Amino acid sequence: MASPGVVVIKDQRFGRHLEGIFHLENPKRLAAFESIMQNPALAGRWQEVIPRLATTEELAWVHTPGYIGKVAKTSGKTLTSFDFDTQTTADSYDTARLAVGGVFSLIDAIQAGKAKRGFAFIRPPGHHAEKDRALGFCLFNNIALGAAYLRNRYGLSRVMIVDIDAHHGNGIQSAFYDSDEVLYLSMHLFPGFPGTGNVGELGRANGEGFTVNVPLGRGHGDQEFARIICHLVLPLAREYQPEMILVPCGFDLYMHDRLGGMRATPKGYALLTRLLIEAAETVCDGRIAFVAEGGYSMKGIRECGLRVMQELCDVKTLNGGKPFNHE
Ligand SMILES: [Zn+2]
Repeated sequence: MASPGVVVIKDQRFGRHLEGIFHLENPKRLAAFESIMQNPALAGRWQEVIPRLATTEELAWVHTPGYIGKVAKTSGKTLTSFDFDTQTTADSYDTARLAVGGVFSLIDAIQAGKAKRGFAFIRPPGHHAEKDRALGFCLFNNIALGAAYLRNRYGLSRVMIVDIDAHHGNGIQSAFYDSDEVLYLSMHLFPGFPGTGNVGELGRANGEGFTVNVPLGRGHGDQEFARIICHLVLPLAREYQPEMILVPCGFDLYMHDRLGGMRATPKGYALLTRLLIEAAETVCDGRIAFVAEGGYSMKGIRECGLRVMQELCDVKTLNGGKPFNHE
């Protein structure tokens, strides 16, 4: 059996956000991920790391103090609405700080050499959160803060983010739109929520060319996503030579997801994961961190999440272990 070279973050405290109210982004999603990690196929192949809370100083790397204060003030309040989709409950502020801290803890484990890869199943998700605004179920931008952490704590100057959520990560894009220190690539439903992510959004000033959007119509499936990784992500990674790859991983590309509009299968998630691991092996000694974003079918999280975790844990489930031979 392989040594536990994979780090997993999946704290029960992530269930405290939107506890007891009706919402698509609910604590049952965490339970679905927990059930994956009990699968015997993964036994002995991963290690759990307990996440820490991000500090307000760290949140301010991406968010304005005014906005951080606004979220902090929701603490203890039964229900606060930031917009039609985005609510908080009494413990949401602390849970959102723990989500950001979960990304930091995963990065720390990888940087310390405990593992090369990992998955942080955190809530709430983050990629729609703007510097001064909650949006699309997101409070703080977990991945953007993770990239800022790599720069500020570890001095990295090239981080690649490959966003495989079905929606455009507007908040990640805007956080690094002027910067060449982060290469942000997203494939997503377009037009679709939140409305950004067209091909012409390329970055600005030093960041020009370091934002890459792949807008897609409805109904794309495994082969299209795999081709994007093979023919776009991999060559860009070779060119850019990132020091780490971050993957905002939504499970809403899944064919039966209510919000995604795409047709990916669990096997497609295995393929995407394998290809992304290979990209990381090629350019950054395998260092890659997957972080949960959306995904609203419990079956989709369970089945696609299992395939992602199997690939991360080197339980190879694809034919002959050769991802390029997919049908
Ligand atoms: Zn999404």
